[in-house]
Amino acid sequence: MTTVLVLNSGSSSLKYQLVVPGSGEVLAGGVVERIGEEAGRITHEVAGQEVVREQTVADHGAALRLVLDLFEEAGPSLREAGIVAVGHRVVHGGTSFSAPVVVDDDVVAAVRALVPLAPLHNPGNVTGIEVARELLDVPHVAVFDTAFFADLPPAAATYAIDVKTAAEHGVRRYGFHGTSHQFVSSAVAAHPAVRAELAAAGRGPETLRQVVLHLGNGASASAVLGGHAVETSMGLTPLEGLVMGTRSGDIDPGIVFHLLRSGDLTVDYVDTLLNKRSGLLGLSGVNDMRELTRLVEAGDDGARLALDVYLHRLRKYVGAYAAVLGGIDVLVFTAGVGENAAHVRAGVVDGLGFLGLTVDAARNEARSREPRVVSPSGTGPLVMVVPTNEELAIARQAIALVG
Ligand code: ADP
Repeated sequence: MTTVLVLNSGSSSLKYQLVVPGSGEVLAGGVVERIGEEAGRITHEVAGQEVVREQTVADHGAALRLVLDLFEEAGPSLREAGIVAVGHRVVHGGTSFSAPVVVDDDVVAAVRALVPLAPLHNPGNVTGIEVARELLDVPHVAVFDTAFFADLPPAAATYAIDVKTAAEHGVRRYGFHGTSHQFVSSAVAAHPAVRAELAAAGRGPETLRQVVLHLGNGASASAVLGGHAVETSMGLTPLEGLVMGTRSGDIDPGIVFHLLRSGDLTVDYVDTLLNKRSGLLGLSGVNDMRELTRLVEAGDDGARLALDVYLHRLRKYVGAYAAVLGGIDVLVFTAGVGENAAHVRAGVVDGLGFLGLTVDAARNEARSREPRVVSPSGTGPLVMVVPTNEELAIARQAIALVG
Protein backbone atom coordinates (compact mmCIF):
# COMPACT_ATOMS: atom_id res chain seq x y z
CA MET A 1 0.00 0.00 0.00
CA THR A 2 1.11 3.58 -0.73
CA THR A 3 -0.18 6.43 1.43
CA VAL A 4 0.43 10.14 1.96
CA LEU A 5 -0.01 11.91 5.29
CA VAL A 6 -1.56 15.31 4.58
CA LEU A 7 -1.01 18.02 7.17
CA ASN A 8 -2.76 21.39 7.45
CA SER A 9 -1.23 23.36 10.32
CA GLY A 10 -3.01 26.51 11.42
CA SER A 11 -1.86 28.95 14.08
CA SER A 12 -3.42 26.88 16.88
CA SER A 13 -4.60 23.73 15.12
CA LEU A 14 -3.24 20.76 13.20
CA LYS A 15 -5.53 18.87 10.80
CA TYR A 16 -4.35 15.61 9.28
CA GLN A 17 -5.49 12.84 6.96
CA LEU A 18 -3.84 9.59 5.93
CA VAL A 19 -4.84 9.23 2.29
CA VAL A 20 -4.46 6.52 -0.35
CA PRO A 21 -3.81 8.77 -3.36
CA GLY A 22 -4.91 6.22 -5.97
CA SER A 23 -8.36 5.39 -4.63
CA GLY A 24 -8.86 8.52 -2.55
CA GLU A 25 -9.62 6.39 0.50
CA VAL A 26 -9.04 8.14 3.85
CA LEU A 27 -7.60 5.59 6.30
CA ALA A 28 -7.78 7.97 9.26
CA GLY A 29 -7.87 11.66 10.00
CA GLY A 30 -8.43 14.19 12.69
CA VAL A 31 -7.62 17.49 14.26
CA VAL A 32 -5.64 18.82 17.22
CA GLU A 33 -7.24 22.03 18.44
CA ARG A 34 -6.23 24.83 20.80
CA ILE A 35 -2.50 24.15 20.57
CA GLY A 36 -0.65 26.27 23.13
CA GLU A 37 -3.76 26.77 25.28
CA GLU A 38 -4.70 25.13 28.56
CA ALA A 39 -7.60 23.07 27.18
CA GLY A 40 -6.27 21.26 24.12
CA ARG A 41 -8.26 18.58 22.32
CA ILE A 42 -7.48 15.85 19.81
CA THR A 43 -10.11 14.10 17.73
CA HIS A 44 -8.89 11.08 15.77
CA GLU A 45 -11.28 9.34 13.39
CA VAL A 46 -10.69 5.84 12.12
CA ALA A 47 -13.15 3.37 10.58
CA GLY A 48 -16.12 5.55 11.55
CA GLN A 49 -15.04 5.68 15.22
CA GLU A 50 -13.93 8.86 16.99
CA VAL A 51 -11.22 8.83 19.65
CA VAL A 52 -11.26 12.09 21.62
CA ARG A 53 -8.59 13.23 24.09
CA GLU A 54 -8.64 16.43 26.08
CA GLN A 55 -5.26 17.57 27.33
CA THR A 56 -2.87 20.48 27.14
CA VAL A 57 -0.88 20.49 23.91
CA ALA A 58 2.13 22.76 24.38
CA ASP A 59 3.10 23.38 20.76
CA HIS A 60 2.95 21.98 17.23
CA GLY A 61 5.74 19.49 17.98
CA ALA A 62 3.75 18.08 20.89
CA ALA A 63 0.64 18.04 18.69
CA LEU A 64 2.28 15.97 15.98
CA ARG A 65 3.83 13.58 18.54
CA LEU A 66 0.35 13.02 19.98
CA VAL A 67 -1.04 12.36 16.51
CA LEU A 68 1.69 9.81 15.81
CA ASP A 69 0.98 8.10 19.18
CA LEU A 70 -2.73 7.98 18.40
CA PHE A 71 -2.05 6.31 15.06
CA GLU A 72 -0.14 3.58 16.92
CA GLU A 73 -2.80 3.20 19.65
CA ALA A 74 -6.05 3.58 17.67
CA GLY A 75 -4.69 2.66 14.25
CA PRO A 76 -3.82 2.37 11.54
CA SER A 77 -0.16 1.88 12.43
CA LEU A 78 1.92 4.37 10.48
CA ARG A 79 4.81 1.92 10.50
CA GLU A 80 2.73 -0.40 8.34
CA ALA A 81 0.85 2.23 6.36
CA GLY A 82 3.45 2.68 3.62
CA ILE A 83 3.78 6.46 3.89
CA VAL A 84 5.83 7.69 0.94
CA ALA A 85 5.41 11.42 1.52
CA VAL A 86 3.98 14.07 3.80
CA GLY A 87 1.94 16.73 1.95
CA HIS A 88 1.73 20.12 3.62
CA ARG A 89 -0.92 22.70 2.84
CA VAL A 90 0.77 26.10 2.70
CA VAL A 91 -1.48 29.13 2.37
CA HIS A 92 0.82 31.72 0.78
CA GLY A 93 3.39 30.92 -1.88
CA GLY A 94 3.77 34.55 -2.99
CA THR A 95 5.44 34.86 -6.38
CA SER A 96 8.10 32.32 -5.36
CA PHE A 97 5.99 29.17 -5.82
CA SER A 98 3.75 28.42 -8.78
CA ALA A 99 3.73 24.64 -8.22
CA PRO A 100 4.22 22.13 -5.39
CA VAL A 101 7.83 21.62 -4.25
CA VAL A 102 9.79 19.05 -2.28
CA VAL A 103 10.69 20.76 0.99
CA ASP A 104 14.32 21.53 1.81
CA ASP A 105 15.85 24.20 4.05
CA ASP A 106 15.61 26.82 1.31
CA VAL A 107 11.88 26.16 0.87
CA VAL A 108 11.30 26.53 4.61
CA ALA A 109 13.21 29.84 4.55
CA ALA A 110 11.19 31.04 1.55
CA VAL A 111 7.85 30.17 3.20
CA ARG A 112 9.01 31.98 6.32
CA ALA A 113 10.00 35.01 4.24
CA LEU A 114 6.36 35.21 3.08
CA VAL A 115 5.04 35.63 6.65
CA PRO A 116 4.50 39.41 6.23
CA LEU A 117 2.04 38.64 3.39
CA ALA A 118 0.16 35.99 5.40
CA PRO A 119 0.77 36.73 9.09
CA LEU A 120 -2.21 34.62 10.20
CA HIS A 121 -1.38 31.52 8.17
CA ASN A 122 2.24 31.04 7.12
CA PRO A 123 3.76 30.95 10.65
CA GLY A 124 1.65 27.87 11.52
CA ASN A 125 2.50 26.31 8.15
CA VAL A 126 6.25 26.79 8.74
CA THR A 127 6.08 25.32 12.24
CA GLY A 128 4.08 22.35 10.97
CA ILE A 129 6.66 21.62 8.26
CA GLU A 130 9.57 21.95 10.69
CA VAL A 131 8.23 19.56 13.31
CA ALA A 132 7.05 17.05 10.70
CA ARG A 133 10.47 16.99 9.04
CA GLU A 134 11.99 16.16 12.41
CA LEU A 135 9.56 13.37 13.19
CA LEU A 136 8.84 11.77 9.81
CA ASP A 137 11.77 10.67 7.69
CA VAL A 138 10.14 10.72 4.22
CA PRO A 139 10.04 13.43 1.53
CA HIS A 140 7.90 16.41 2.48
CA VAL A 141 6.01 18.32 -0.20
CA ALA A 142 4.58 21.82 0.16
CA VAL A 143 1.38 22.52 -1.82
CA PHE A 144 0.43 26.19 -2.06
CA ASP A 145 -3.07 27.68 -1.96
CA THR A 146 -1.91 30.47 -4.25
CA ALA A 147 -0.11 28.33 -6.87
CA PHE A 148 -3.05 27.84 -9.26
CA PHE A 149 -3.28 31.64 -9.57
CA ALA A 150 0.44 32.36 -9.97
CA ASP A 151 0.01 32.87 -13.73
CA LEU A 152 -3.03 35.16 -13.67
CA PRO A 153 -2.88 37.56 -16.60
CA PRO A 154 -1.27 40.86 -15.49
CA ALA A 155 -4.52 42.76 -16.08
CA ALA A 156 -6.24 40.54 -13.50
CA ALA A 157 -3.36 40.36 -11.01
CA THR A 158 -2.56 44.07 -10.89
CA TYR A 159 -4.23 46.57 -8.56
CA ALA A 160 -4.49 50.07 -9.98
CA ILE A 161 -2.27 51.71 -7.40
CA ASP A 162 1.15 53.35 -7.65
CA VAL A 163 3.37 50.70 -9.23
CA LYS A 164 6.42 51.47 -7.12
CA THR A 165 4.54 51.17 -3.82
CA ALA A 166 2.88 47.96 -5.02
CA ALA A 167 6.24 46.41 -5.98
CA GLU A 168 7.91 47.43 -2.71
CA HIS A 169 5.20 45.81 -0.61
CA GLY A 170 4.33 42.81 -2.78
CA VAL A 171 0.82 44.16 -3.44
CA ARG A 172 -0.92 42.15 -6.18
CA ARG A 173 -3.74 39.64 -6.54
CA TYR A 174 -2.48 36.25 -5.31
CA GLY A 175 -5.76 34.36 -4.93
CA PHE A 176 -6.43 31.51 -2.47
CA HIS A 177 -8.31 28.15 -2.36
CA GLY A 178 -6.26 27.36 -5.49
CA THR A 179 -5.93 23.66 -4.68
CA SER A 180 -9.72 23.39 -4.61
CA HIS A 181 -10.29 25.50 -7.75
CA GLN A 182 -7.74 23.37 -9.62
CA PHE A 183 -9.12 20.04 -8.37
CA VAL A 184 -12.70 20.99 -9.20
CA SER A 185 -12.01 22.55 -12.60
CA SER A 186 -9.97 19.47 -13.65
CA ALA A 187 -12.81 17.19 -12.54
CA VAL A 188 -15.22 19.28 -14.62
CA ALA A 189 -12.97 19.09 -17.69
CA ALA A 190 -12.79 15.29 -17.32
CA HIS A 191 -16.56 14.83 -16.79
CA PRO A 192 -18.28 12.87 -19.60
CA ALA A 193 -21.10 15.43 -19.98
CA VAL A 194 -18.58 18.24 -20.48
CA ARG A 195 -16.45 16.24 -22.91
CA ALA A 196 -19.57 15.33 -24.89
CA GLU A 197 -20.64 19.01 -25.13
CA LEU A 198 -17.20 20.07 -26.36
CA ALA A 199 -17.01 17.20 -28.85
CA ALA A 200 -20.49 17.98 -30.21
CA ALA A 201 -19.42 21.59 -30.77
CA GLY A 202 -16.11 20.49 -32.36
CA ARG A 203 -14.15 22.37 -29.69
CA GLY A 204 -10.93 21.43 -27.90
CA PRO A 205 -10.52 21.33 -24.09
CA GLU A 206 -8.35 24.48 -24.27
CA THR A 207 -11.50 26.49 -25.07
CA LEU A 208 -13.52 25.32 -22.03
CA ARG A 209 -14.78 28.34 -20.04
CA GLN A 210 -15.64 27.65 -16.40
CA VAL A 211 -16.73 29.79 -13.47
CA VAL A 212 -15.98 27.94 -10.22
CA LEU A 213 -17.71 28.99 -6.99
CA HIS A 214 -16.01 27.59 -3.85
CA LEU A 215 -18.58 28.37 -1.15
CA GLY A 216 -17.51 27.24 2.32
CA ASN A 217 -16.92 29.35 5.42
CA GLY A 218 -14.41 31.14 3.26
CA ALA A 219 -15.66 31.66 -0.29
CA SER A 220 -14.05 32.49 -3.60
CA ALA A 221 -14.81 32.51 -7.31
CA SER A 222 -12.51 31.83 -10.22
CA ALA A 223 -12.67 32.05 -13.99
CA VAL A 224 -10.85 29.15 -15.64
CA LEU A 225 -10.06 29.00 -19.37
CA GLY A 226 -8.81 25.66 -20.70
CA GLY A 227 -7.51 24.63 -17.27
CA HIS A 228 -5.77 27.95 -16.51
CA ALA A 229 -7.08 30.46 -13.98
CA VAL A 230 -7.59 33.86 -15.60
CA GLU A 231 -9.34 35.66 -12.72
CA THR A 232 -10.16 35.06 -9.05
CA SER A 233 -11.98 36.94 -6.32
CA MET A 234 -9.53 36.73 -3.39
CA GLY A 235 -6.65 39.14 -3.62
CA LEU A 236 -3.60 40.13 -1.61
CA THR A 237 -5.36 38.41 1.29
CA PRO A 238 -8.37 36.06 1.54
CA LEU A 239 -10.57 39.01 2.54
CA GLU A 240 -11.53 40.27 -0.93
CA GLY A 241 -14.42 39.14 -3.08
CA LEU A 242 -17.52 37.19 -2.12
CA VAL A 243 -19.57 37.56 1.07
CA MET A 244 -18.27 34.85 3.45
CA GLY A 245 -19.26 33.38 6.82
CA THR A 246 -17.45 36.08 8.81
CA ARG A 247 -15.54 38.08 6.15
CA SER A 248 -16.98 41.08 4.34
CA GLY A 249 -15.52 40.39 0.91
CA ASP A 250 -15.50 43.48 -1.34
CA ILE A 251 -16.04 46.82 0.36
CA ASP A 252 -15.08 50.36 -0.57
CA PRO A 253 -11.52 50.71 0.83
CA GLY A 254 -12.64 54.18 1.89
CA ILE A 255 -14.76 52.50 4.60
CA VAL A 256 -11.55 51.52 6.39
CA PHE A 257 -10.27 55.12 6.50
CA HIS A 258 -13.70 56.39 7.48
CA LEU A 259 -13.85 53.98 10.44
CA LEU A 260 -10.27 54.70 11.50
CA ARG A 261 -10.81 58.46 11.40
CA SER A 262 -14.37 58.96 12.57
CA GLY A 263 -14.90 55.99 14.81
CA ASP A 264 -11.66 56.35 16.75
CA LEU A 265 -11.06 52.66 16.07
CA THR A 266 -7.68 50.95 15.88
CA VAL A 267 -6.27 49.14 12.85
CA ASP A 268 -6.49 45.79 14.68
CA TYR A 269 -10.13 46.45 15.58
CA VAL A 270 -11.08 47.13 11.96
CA ASP A 271 -9.03 44.12 10.79
CA THR A 272 -10.93 41.86 13.19
CA LEU A 273 -14.23 43.52 12.29
CA LEU A 274 -13.83 42.79 8.56
CA ASN A 275 -12.31 39.30 8.95
CA LYS A 276 -14.19 37.87 11.93
CA ARG A 277 -17.38 39.89 12.55
CA SER A 278 -18.64 40.71 9.07
CA GLY A 279 -20.12 38.71 6.19
CA LEU A 280 -23.18 36.61 7.03
CA LEU A 281 -22.36 36.84 10.75
CA GLY A 282 -22.18 40.63 10.72
CA LEU A 283 -25.47 40.94 8.85
CA SER A 284 -27.52 38.27 10.59
CA GLY A 285 -25.78 37.11 13.78
CA VAL A 286 -24.98 33.64 12.36
CA ASN A 287 -22.19 32.55 10.00
CA ASP A 288 -23.39 29.02 9.24
CA MET A 289 -25.54 28.67 6.10
CA ARG A 290 -27.75 26.01 7.69
CA GLU A 291 -28.61 28.30 10.61
CA LEU A 292 -29.07 31.26 8.28
CA THR A 293 -31.49 29.24 6.16
CA ARG A 294 -33.52 28.29 9.26
CA LEU A 295 -33.73 31.97 10.26
CA VAL A 296 -34.83 32.97 6.75
CA GLU A 297 -37.54 30.29 6.81
CA ALA A 298 -38.69 31.59 10.20
CA GLY A 299 -39.18 35.06 8.67
CA ASP A 300 -36.12 36.82 10.13
CA ASP A 301 -35.56 40.07 8.17
CA GLY A 302 -31.83 40.39 8.97
CA ALA A 303 -31.19 36.84 7.77
CA ARG A 304 -33.21 37.48 4.58
CA LEU A 305 -31.13 40.58 3.83
CA ALA A 306 -27.88 38.66 4.54
CA LEU A 307 -28.88 35.93 2.08
CA ASP A 308 -29.92 38.53 -0.52
CA VAL A 309 -26.56 40.33 -0.20
CA TYR A 310 -24.73 36.96 -0.46
CA LEU A 311 -26.63 35.94 -3.62
CA HIS A 312 -26.46 39.39 -5.20
CA ARG A 313 -22.64 39.36 -4.86
CA LEU A 314 -22.44 35.88 -6.38
CA ARG A 315 -24.58 36.86 -9.39
CA LYS A 316 -22.44 39.94 -9.94
CA TYR A 317 -19.29 37.80 -9.98
CA VAL A 318 -20.69 35.15 -12.31
CA GLY A 319 -21.78 37.87 -14.75
CA ALA A 320 -18.41 39.60 -14.53
CA TYR A 321 -16.47 36.37 -15.01
CA ALA A 322 -18.62 35.38 -17.99
CA ALA A 323 -17.54 38.71 -19.46
CA VAL A 324 -13.86 38.02 -18.63
CA LEU A 325 -14.13 34.61 -20.34
CA GLY A 326 -16.16 35.86 -23.30
CA GLY A 327 -18.96 33.46 -22.40
CA ILE A 328 -19.52 30.55 -20.05
CA ASP A 329 -19.70 26.79 -20.67
CA VAL A 330 -19.90 25.52 -17.08
CA LEU A 331 -20.89 27.13 -13.78
CA VAL A 332 -19.69 24.84 -10.99
CA PHE A 333 -20.50 24.86 -7.28
CA THR A 334 -18.29 23.32 -4.60
CA ALA A 335 -17.47 23.26 -0.81
CA GLY A 336 -19.93 23.06 2.11
CA VAL A 337 -22.52 25.54 0.84
CA GLY A 338 -21.97 24.98 -2.88
CA GLU A 339 -22.28 21.18 -2.56
CA ASN A 340 -25.21 21.10 -0.15
CA ALA A 341 -27.36 24.22 -0.35
CA ALA A 342 -29.68 23.69 -3.34
CA HIS A 343 -31.50 26.95 -2.59
CA VAL A 344 -28.23 28.89 -2.90
CA ARG A 345 -27.50 27.31 -6.29
CA ALA A 346 -31.04 28.10 -7.45
CA GLY A 347 -30.74 31.63 -6.03
CA VAL A 348 -27.51 32.31 -7.92
CA VAL A 349 -28.80 31.26 -11.33
CA ASP A 350 -32.14 32.96 -10.75
CA GLY A 351 -31.62 36.16 -12.73
CA LEU A 352 -28.80 34.75 -14.85
CA GLY A 353 -31.15 33.35 -17.48
CA PHE A 354 -29.75 35.91 -19.95
CA LEU A 355 -26.50 33.84 -19.87
CA GLY A 356 -28.55 30.69 -20.50
CA LEU A 357 -27.98 29.53 -16.91
CA THR A 358 -30.76 27.61 -15.21
CA VAL A 359 -31.19 24.58 -12.92
CA ASP A 360 -33.52 21.61 -13.16
CA ALA A 361 -35.39 21.63 -9.83
CA ALA A 362 -35.33 17.85 -9.28
CA ARG A 363 -31.65 17.47 -10.25
CA ASN A 364 -30.69 20.44 -8.13
CA GLU A 365 -32.49 19.07 -5.04
CA ALA A 366 -31.15 15.51 -5.41
CA ARG A 367 -28.36 14.71 -2.91
CA SER A 368 -25.19 12.94 -4.00
CA ARG A 369 -21.45 12.82 -3.31
CA GLU A 370 -20.69 12.47 -7.02
CA PRO A 371 -19.83 15.21 -9.51
CA ARG A 372 -23.08 15.93 -11.34
CA VAL A 373 -24.97 18.17 -13.73
CA VAL A 374 -27.95 20.01 -12.21
CA SER A 375 -29.06 22.01 -15.27
CA PRO A 376 -31.71 20.62 -17.64
CA SER A 377 -30.50 18.55 -20.61
CA GLY A 378 -29.86 20.32 -23.88
CA THR A 379 -30.10 23.92 -22.69
CA GLY A 380 -27.08 26.20 -22.87
CA PRO A 381 -24.23 26.16 -20.35
CA LEU A 382 -24.00 23.36 -17.77
CA VAL A 383 -24.53 24.02 -14.08
CA MET A 384 -22.63 21.43 -12.05
CA VAL A 385 -21.93 20.38 -8.47
CA VAL A 386 -18.47 18.90 -7.90
CA PRO A 387 -17.41 17.94 -4.35
CA THR A 388 -13.98 19.35 -3.56
CA ASN A 389 -11.28 17.33 -1.82
CA GLU A 390 -8.25 19.42 -0.98
CA GLU A 391 -6.54 16.64 1.01
CA LEU A 392 -6.74 14.21 -1.89
CA ALA A 393 -5.48 16.91 -4.27
CA ILE A 394 -2.51 17.55 -1.96
CA ALA A 395 -1.81 13.82 -1.63
CA ARG A 396 -1.87 13.36 -5.41
CA GLN A 397 0.36 16.37 -6.05
CA ALA A 398 2.80 15.10 -3.43
CA ILE A 399 2.98 11.65 -4.94
CA ALA A 400 3.35 13.05 -8.46
CA LEU A 401 6.40 14.92 -7.25
CA VAL A 402 8.16 12.20 -5.26
CA GLY A 403 7.21 9.36 -7.60
P1 ADP B 1 -14.57 25.44 5.42
O1 ADP B 1 -13.83 24.25 4.85
O2 ADP B 1 -14.33 26.73 4.68
O3 ADP B 1 -14.49 25.59 6.90
P2 ADP B 1 -16.96 24.05 4.47
O4 ADP B 1 -16.58 23.87 3.05
O5 ADP B 1 -17.01 22.87 5.35
O6 ADP B 1 -16.12 25.21 5.15
O7 ADP B 1 -18.41 24.77 4.46
C1 ADP B 1 -19.03 25.17 5.63
C2 ADP B 1 -20.37 25.79 5.26
O8 ADP B 1 -21.15 24.81 4.56
C3 ADP B 1 -21.19 26.25 6.44
O9 ADP B 1 -21.74 27.53 6.19
C4 ADP B 1 -22.31 25.22 6.49
O10 ADP B 1 -23.50 25.76 6.99
C5 ADP B 1 -22.47 24.88 5.03
N1 ADP B 1 -23.20 23.63 4.89
C6 ADP B 1 -22.79 22.37 5.20
N2 ADP B 1 -23.78 21.48 4.99
C7 ADP B 1 -24.85 22.18 4.54
C8 ADP B 1 -26.18 21.86 4.15
N3 ADP B 1 -26.61 20.60 4.18
N4 ADP B 1 -26.99 22.85 3.74
C9 ADP B 1 -26.56 24.12 3.70
N5 ADP B 1 -25.32 24.51 4.05
C10 ADP B 1 -24.48 23.56 4.47
